[in-house]
Amino acid sequence: MERLYNFSPGPATLPRSVLEAAQRDLVVLPGIGASPLEVSHRSPWFREVIDEAVTNLRGLLAVPDPYHVVFCQGGATQQFSMVPMNLLRGADTEAEYVVTGSWGARAVHEAEKEGRVRIAWSGAAQGYTRVPASEEIARALSPAAAYVHVTTNETIEGVQWADVPAMPGDVPLIADSSSDFLSRPIDVGRFGLLYAGAQKNAGPAGVTIAIVRDDLLSSVPDGLPSMLDYRTFVEHGSMHNTPPVFAIYVVMLVTRWLRDEVGGLAEQARRNLEKAVLLYDAIDESEGFYRGHAEPSSRSLMNVTFRLASDDLDARFVAQAAERGLAGLKGHRRVGGIRASIYNAMPLEGVEALATFMESFARRPS
Ligand code: PMP
Repeated sequence: MERLYNFSPGPATLPRSVLEAAQRDLVVLPGIGASPLEVSHRSPWFREVIDEAVTNLRGLLAVPDPYHVVFCQGGATQQFSMVPMNLLRGADTEAEYVVTGSWGARAVHEAEKEGRVRIAWSGAAQGYTRVPASEEIARALSPAAAYVHVTTNETIEGVQWADVPAMPGDVPLIADSSSDFLSRPIDVGRFGLLYAGAQKNAGPAGVTIAIVRDDLLSSVPDGLPSMLDYRTFVEHGSMHNTPPVFAIYVVMLVTRWLRDEVGGLAEQARRNLEKAVLLYDAIDESEGFYRGHAEPSSRSLMNVTFRLASDDLDARFVAQAAERGLAGLKGHRRVGGIRASIYNAMPLEGVEALATFMESFARRPS
């Protein structure tokens, strides 16, 4: 069977050359005589793999020196708890959350178990269609907060921050960047901590990347479970226990692909914009046949969300697209509609095929 164009939100499509490299190595790694699924995490082979993965991430994102790059488990969902356990439990102030979609709301739910949380801004009443404007956010945040948490791209609603919001004073900005990590250059220096589940742009499910500024570690309270304490990951180079060896190996391959085949994040961002514009143009030129979910200024370049006039039409769209090899387009079960996830590894041809299908379906929606 040929590979489909896979528009699913994560686990998501991976670069073909990465899959082929993993396939070549899967049974026997050259010079090692065993599979990456079998090799010890203490082996020199894995040491090189994890070192290269960190080096590639640092290079791609221009991570400044005082930041650590670590590999955690438990998904981004575990970060929803780890962040407040490490940064709020010991604090005598509130953490502030800017909620621009369903994942931000989930992050609040976990943080409330750890300390005092204030929702500084929420798009819930409007159905999560936008991020706040810079004046709104400036009014909403307090310089006394323990930290401010944002979701740089809301995967379910397709709402993305175009710019990093400015923080009052030296309040650390914490970001869930699961679904736009490595999709464009970012100024890591603007963040206190940034985390991302790998299974969208960085690799397979099973590993979560966290980039944390060193000074934040000094206020982590003692007594946290070791595997929920960022210091454990920093002190042991992400190898306090057995890390997800294969997942980290694929992250290494994906970051190598971004570095060598794509040529870096600026080029990747250019490609991502080109792809997203094709779909948003198809929406905007459909005379209301497709209705985009997000306000234009908050549109995600990663998850393009829209709906048709009825649930029935949505379902027919998804079914007919699937017949044409365009898979995974059904919107999240909580919001319905259509969602095309067009992460880094989705080729332009896949998006062109979807845009062409959208035009023909709008003409004859049978
Ligand atoms: N945050 C965002 C923005 C996400 O898209 C997701 C997963 N789709 C999560 C958090 C949860 O990630 P995980 O399933 O890795 O816990």
